[in-house]
Amino acid sequence: MEKLEQLYEGKAKKVYRTDDENAYIVSYKDDATAFNGLKKGTISGKGVVNNRMSNYLMQKLEAEAGIPTHYIKELSERETLVKKVEIVPLEVIVRNIAAGSFSKRFGVAEGTPLLIPTIEFCYKSDELGDPMVNDYHIIACGWSTREELDTITDYTFRINDYLKGFFAERGVELVDFKIEFGRDAANGGKVILADEISPDTCRFWDAKTHEKLDKDRFRREMGGVEEAYEEMMRRVFGDNK
Ligand code: UDP
Repeated sequence: MEKLEQLYEGKAKKVYRTDDENAYIVSYKDDATAFNGLKKGTISGKGVVNNRMSNYLMQKLEAEAGIPTHYIKELSERETLVKKVEIVPLEVIVRNIAAGSFSKRFGVAEGTPLLIPTIEFCYKSDELGDPMVNDYHIIACGWSTREELDTITDYTFRINDYLKGFFAERGVELVDFKIEFGRDAANGGKVILADEISPDTCRFWDAKTHEKLDKDRFRREMGGVEEAYEEMMRRVFGDNK
């Protein structure tokens, strides 16, 4: 597998073309941003944690929950071979416990358990600040079809069920998370899980102490950011990292 030119550089990852037209290499950086790029910084070692954790979770989701993903092969501690997809321009957010923008928008205290898991869609647009949209907006604007959205919704709740259990066994509450899907170019545009699942994109709270073990420590200037990412690595992999 040969790494060719860089196609794209995002806030946390770079994407490279390869000699396989159906595969890309993603490279995870230590750069961190928050509040739509307003706050910038570095979290040392973050790229390694996010790469390894995301790959592990995607493999588990494929094998144990039947979710198709973009994961192909981990190439190094920061680089992974993934299927080439066209990203569906939606951030799909699932919430089990009120926090962040949900608490702010609806006036529900952070930490309030939700009576059912909820799903939200945001249209991916930095200029617009990722506005929340409903299924009618999405279909009306052509961002995805009803069929794709039904598949995305079904996969998303299955992913939540699986991950909630996975993290509960490790003493971690899965408060909320964001995922993205792509259309698998080599497979008729079939919808598959893409992007990443990591402390950048999930809220993780220690089940006993409710200590935050995710990017909120960076967003809210709480300190102990690197330590929280390392702790999540230990919770996921145990001592055999
Ligand atoms: N999230 C994300 N990227 C975004 C926005 C949110 O990964 O651009 C994740 C975030 O880490 C959290 C969940 O989605 O786990 C819900 O985030 P929320 O809507 O509460 O927004 P925030 O408070 O992070 O701005």
